[in-house]
Amino acid sequence: MHHSKSSTDGMRQGYDYIFLGAGCASLSLLMRMIKSGQFSEKKILLIDKAPKTSNDRTWCFWEVSNGFFEEVVYRKWNTVSFLSDDYSSVMNIAPYEYKMIRGIDFYQYCFDVISSQKNIEVVYAEVTQWYYQNEKFGVVLNGEKVPLGRPVVFNSIYKPIRKKKNTITLQQHFKGWIIETEQAVFNAGEAIMMDFRVHQKHGTTFAYVLPYTTTSALVEYTLFTKELLRQEQYETELRNYIRQYLGIEKYIIKEVEFGVIPMTNEQFPFYQDGVYNLGTVGGQTKGSSGYTFQFIQKRSEQIVKQLLAGKPLEKLPGTPRRFHFYDNTLLHILYHDQLPGNKIFSRLFQKNKPQQVLRFLDNETSLKEELKIISSLPTWPFLKAALKH
Ligand SMILES: Cc1cc2nc3c(=O)[nH]c(=O)nc-3n(C[C@H](O)[C@H](O)[C@H](O)COP(=O)(O)OP(=O)(O)OC[C@H]3O[C@@H](n4cnc5c(N)ncnc54)[C@H](O)[C@@H]3O)c2cc1C
Repeated sequence: MHHSKSSTDGMRQGYDYIFLGAGCASLSLLMRMIKSGQFSEKKILLIDKAPKTSNDRTWCFWEVSNGFFEEVVYRKWNTVSFLSDDYSSVMNIAPYEYKMIRGIDFYQYCFDVISSQKNIEVVYAEVTQWYYQNEKFGVVLNGEKVPLGRPVVFNSIYKPIRKKKNTITLQQHFKGWIIETEQAVFNAGEAIMMDFRVHQKHGTTFAYVLPYTTTSALVEYTLFTKELLRQEQYETELRNYIRQYLGIEKYIIKEVEFGVIPMTNEQFPFYQDGVYNLGTVGGQTKGSSGYTFQFIQKRSEQIVKQLLAGKPLEKLPGTPRRFHFYDNTLLHILYHDQLPGNKIFSRLFQKNKPQQVLRFLDNETSLKEELKIISSLPTWPFLKAALKH
């Protein structure tokens, strides 16, 4: 039985948990709550503006052994390459694997499980606002005020806040094609994680290639800049990259992906106005890289543990401050064009073991390891100056 509705008719009060937004972060947390078996008596409401019917994104991340969503991992590679004019390397990243999950597979997997849970209701409506007064929570759905009592509310919908004076934001924007060739041209065992050989005239720019088979791959063109390009510019660059660097003349485009991820030093509070923020709006997007998927997974695990232990969610520690400091420094350097991103990433991979780099990008290194990594980078003088401030 599927408990989804497209209107607010019959929505009752008395929910224990409410999720505003049903994307990566909400589903990652809710699936863990379901799997724990400890929430089957709780009434749960999930609200999203629309059902997930398209493959709207592809998540790439690295992981040691099997993760919570292993069943929907579409491809994985234990060899990845880094390419640039200064330094290139094919890296064995064991014990890590570089993994890819297709959005559509993830959504279907989650909603299959969710629809079998009698205690979970799914409502499709646009949340235009929410309010928290006298400890009572409510939302405005399609313009209609709906009081919802005193549930625990998790939010992953972006709500613009007044930005602090020193907030800076770069856009990570990318367009990708899933292409198919007649000839076997790809090495399905190896992904290109970053290829910086492309021109850098707009700012930090790289391509990446995720081969599915010897004749198909997702090829993506990515920039970290203030302004987006026009759609035809991404297309021209993709065409050039595929011809010039992959040496492929004939192919067909099977699918198109376009996305924008904010890279910002904005501080996202975990708890605010009656809701706990998850995912990108909960600060889970790393400001200097845009990687989010694994941070969401780690956060979901912490939250479920805390709920099961009956401890207050407010007590959950956030990201250690020093990582915000590194991200902020790197973001400033890129934002103000103080050093080109390709030089920073080249040096990062040239001077450090790939596993160490991956741990650093995951915020999992120790201070000692970080000092060693950071002092190997051309960003070191900037970091020292920032530290003095
Ligand atoms: C194309 C793309 C590719 C990405 N690739 C990677 C990657 O490879 N690796 C990585 O680590 N990260 C990646 N990211 C970043 C990040 O992992 C994703 O953005 C991730 O989906 C963030 O999860 P979230 O739950 O915060 O937001 P979302 O998954 O976007 O979920 C938010 C939900 O809220 C709903 N919603 C929004 N507004 C309203 C409203 N007013 N009313 C009701 N519902 C609303 C949306 O429909 C959506 O379902 C990518 C992002 C994009 C856009």
